[in-house]
Amino acid sequence: MVSSSYEYTQTLMGTTVSLTLLEPNETAAHTVFQTIKMLEDKLTVNRSLSEVMSINLAAGKHAVTVSQPVFSLIEQAQKVSLHFNSCFNLAIGPLVKIWKIGFKGYKVPSAKLIKQQLLLIDPKNIELNANKHSVFLKKQGMEIDLGAIAKGYIADVIKLVLHEQQVYQGIINLGGNVLTLGGSLTDKNGYWHVGLRKPFSTNDKLSGIIKVKNKSIVTSGIYERFFMQNDHLYHHIFNPQTGYPLDNELESVTIISDSSLEGDIYSTVFYGWGLDKSSKYLQKHQNLSAIFLLKNKTIALINPDNFIFQKIDTQYKIKAD
Ligand code: AMP
Ligand code: MG
Repeated sequence: MVSSSYEYTQTLMGTTVSLTLLEPNETAAHTVFQTIKMLEDKLTVNRSLSEVMSINLAAGKHAVTVSQPVFSLIEQAQKVSLHFNSCFNLAIGPLVKIWKIGFKGYKVPSAKLIKQQLLLIDPKNIELNANKHSVFLKKQGMEIDLGAIAKGYIADVIKLVLHEQQVYQGIINLGGNVLTLGGSLTDKNGYWHVGLRKPFSTNDKLSGIIKVKNKSIVTSGIYERFFMQNDHLYHHIFNPQTGYPLDNELESVTIISDSSLEGDIYSTVFYGWGLDKSSKYLQKHQNLSAIFLLKNKTIALINPDNFIFQKIDTQYKIKAD
């Protein structure tokens, strides 16, 4: 970052979280990191204790009352899972657990085990009670996993926290989810410059730079968490029909939007839909923009009015309309 900015970093949510402000503000940075910790403690499924884990541990037994934000996030995730006709499924936990992609012990599970787990991922079997803020997983072994949206939700909360601290300009990077606040002082047109990683690059090369003001940028890609076995790449976004990682023409999807939660939902939904179906949807939703990196090394920029993309990597070509 440039010399006139102040960067604060902490390891949280299994990644490096960085906050860049235009002026030093220890109090704001402290509040931001505390808020992330507090929300991670509620939402994580990577530890034995959290509100979401208490729901999962009670699967098939009883409903669990959770805090309002956790209930509301689960409610939204269930709506997306049921009504979007996409791969998005908040009940994906039983598959995530057996593949362990990105964690110690990752492996291709047996076909029999995958089949068994598929019986446990129906989002209709999540019973919500809005009066009690309670969640009941009807079958034992079911597990909610909010990995596809938790960071987006948290990024939006951080924006509010910073506004409460009278901070209206800055950038927060939650590892794959970047939220820019206001404009930057270092670009003459006020754009924040956000690097888009080159897929599978081992030395942090960029495929390009995204320039935005006051927008969230969220990327879902097959290079974020994956392993190779017998020349086959297994990544972390699953097809809830088959129980295997989704297989399509995409390397990554980046969403540029106002809300980071929305960006996180669409990054996963569009990854599952692929380029054609997503482009049709985006034609009707001009407030959302997307950058698709394809395995054939083309880059598709959809609704490019909301951002500027400066390509860096010569291996990729921008797709003509
Ligand atoms: P993202 O990078 O936002 O696409 O989220 C990927 C994470 O969401 C994974 O690491 C899993 O925790 C979870 N996940 C995997 N497959 C799905 C799916 N089909 N629907 C919802 N969440 C998923
Ligand atoms: Mg997502």
